[in-house]
Amino acid sequence: GRPGCECNACFAGPDCSLRTPDCTADANSGNPLFLEPYWRRHASAGAVVVSGWHRMSYTTTDGHGLFQSVELERQIRRLHSAVGNAVVDDKHVVFAAGSIQLINALVHALSPDADAASPPARVVATAPYYPTYRTQTKMFDGREYIWGGTTALWGNASRNSTDGFIEFVTSPNNPDAQLYKPVLGGSAAVIVDHAYYWPHFTHIPAPADEDVMMFTMSKPSGHAGSRFGWALIRDQDVAKRANKYVQDSIMGASRDTQLRMLGIVKVMLANLHGEEDIFAFGHGVMRTRWRRLNAVVSRSRRISLQKMAPAYCTYFKRIRDPSPAYAWVKCEREEDEDCHEAMLKAKINTRPGVLNEASSRYTRISLLKSDDDFEALMERVTDLVNAERYDA
Ligand code: PMP
Repeated sequence: GRPGCECNACFAGPDCSLRTPDCTADANSGNPLFLEPYWRRHASAGAVVVSGWHRMSYTTTDGHGLFQSVELERQIRRLHSAVGNAVVDDKHVVFAAGSIQLINALVHALSPDADAASPPARVVATAPYYPTYRTQTKMFDGREYIWGGTTALWGNASRNSTDGFIEFVTSPNNPDAQLYKPVLGGSAAVIVDHAYYWPHFTHIPAPADEDVMMFTMSKPSGHAGSRFGWALIRDQDVAKRANKYVQDSIMGASRDTQLRMLGIVKVMLANLHGEEDIFAFGHGVMRTRWRRLNAVVSRSRRISLQKMAPAYCTYFKRIRDPSPAYAWVKCEREEDEDCHEAMLKAKINTRPGVLNEASSRYTRISLLKSDDDFEALMERVTDLVNAERYDA
């Protein structure tokens, strides 16, 4: 098929190569196909061939009968150290099937034992937050933990006890790309989701060093379909409990996936700071998209975007332009109270802000998709802004 084509409303024909005029642009999902051209350029270096007899075992061969490849763990630690986005030396590493699986693994690991006398932990996040924290927690609401809603309901440590709380913090945030810090404080446990804490999407002010952190391969390399994530955990007992969850659930992350990720991380490492640096490539694409979208939206009185400023990045060792994964759109007109609906009428499919427990005046545009999808999006946004007419 055609590179990056998802064959949605804007693309038709046997290989999705025909543009459909007046189609609805799809800017809904966070599918990271903006990196596909990079991997097309590194097709053979990034290729992994697996013979039929290879890796049939439940266990890896380099890990003393474990489910986690020691070599992959070593390369992931090298990647964090080389990028400078996380302190790894005093952390345990726990692999999982995408970072989505880590949501429950880590909540479970931080909750009181199911037979303990203490009440269930309350799992909270600050709006606008990534909705899967809520849907995953609610699916298993029970003796160990329950969904507690947004942090706005609970105040901060100076006013209330934060005992038994688990707060999710996403930094940079999905949907609004801000670098948030925990708000509850006190004795609340914190899980920091650093899915986007890579130089494609944000400046790196300093290596992250929280007690419990989540990462995924989906956003830095773009291999979302491989389903690979990992946690960095300071406390040994918490790491053991998280690891046991993944073992009990799926007997460890897919060995095929671990093998493929090893090849991918090696290519990323080999090219750091060179001409084919994946972060320089990714930042280049994302910065250009953000700049182009801003240039059009700045002419609008109908919609606005979050404000982002250039900032110093320790990875690039210079001030870099903003390059968020998502645009967080606000509809400014009285009648556009349902911003997602208003955008859909303008033939732009976005993700409604109500999913993030934000006002319906907000909706999310994904900037991570293929070049084709981005061009279709730019056409529709330009039409929308050009259609605005004001008396001087
Ligand atoms: N956390 C955040 C903030 C995300 O945006 C996503 C994916 N959209 C995930 C976690 C889950 O990613 P995956 O399961 O592919 O690792």
